[in-house]
Amino acid sequence: MRKKIVAGNWKMNKSMEEALILASEVVHMVKDEVNTDVQVIIAPPALYLTTLQKHTEAVANMGIAAQNCSNKASGAYTGEISASMLKSIGATHVILGHSERRQYFNESNEVLAEKVNIVLENGLTPIFCCGETLEQRQAEGFLEFVASQLTDSLFHLSAEEFGKVVIAYEPIWAIGTGLTASSQQAQDMHAYLRGHIAGKYGQEVADNTSILYGGSCNEKNAEELFACPDVDGGLIGGASLKSREFTNIAKSF
Ligand code: PGA
Repeated sequence: MRKKIVAGNWKMNKSMEEALILASEVVHMVKDEVNTDVQVIIAPPALYLTTLQKHTEAVANMGIAAQNCSNKASGAYTGEISASMLKSIGATHVILGHSERRQYFNESNEVLAEKVNIVLENGLTPIFCCGETLEQRQAEGFLEFVASQLTDSLFHLSAEEFGKVVIAYEPIWAIGTGLTASSQQAQDMHAYLRGHIAGKYGQEVADNTSILYGGSCNEKNAEELFACPDVDGGLIGGASLKSREFTNIAKSF
């Protein structure tokens, strides 16, 4: 059956020294306290991946993710980092299509489809983010809108390829705002997306797809969210910057 996953998206935070402290605390706590059937992933700034990977690789149920990667394979793309480079330093996952990348860096569904392809070609796992704005939620059709993000960036994949993708539903109105989706709102969206996946790839693929919730998830609300039948874990922003709280979230299944 599908994996339980808790991933910490550090975004653009922490000095190298602070990152080392946070990662080593998380690694120790995960090793000692978190059930081995829960996969715990940290996504530090790209600059720290090589160093921090040495820490995470020591724990079987830990992984390390980039927060983004290029849609190009290699070449004259100043400032970019490729999926093959990430693979070569031992990264395991890549977060793709975070709403901040879509909003501030104009990432379209089409570019994200290319990024998904190149990440999969390099044997990395995409954590594909989707989600609606507050305006969209207040209007009709927000379920369909989020489903269309999957259609446009993922549904060109074969069933085998799709089976390697992790989905993260992150309502934009809940990210960094302290406003969490209620567990019912999360469950409703997750069940809808799973049905949408089943419509394309069949029930078995849908049942094996991990769908994470993200948006002001913390140690207080994680247990209720993760208890929902279609919520398979979380993509954690702010609360992943504190080792104790992040570990507590990973213990909330
Ligand atoms: P948040 O961020 O937990 O700080 O709301 C989640 C995310 O953006 O992945």
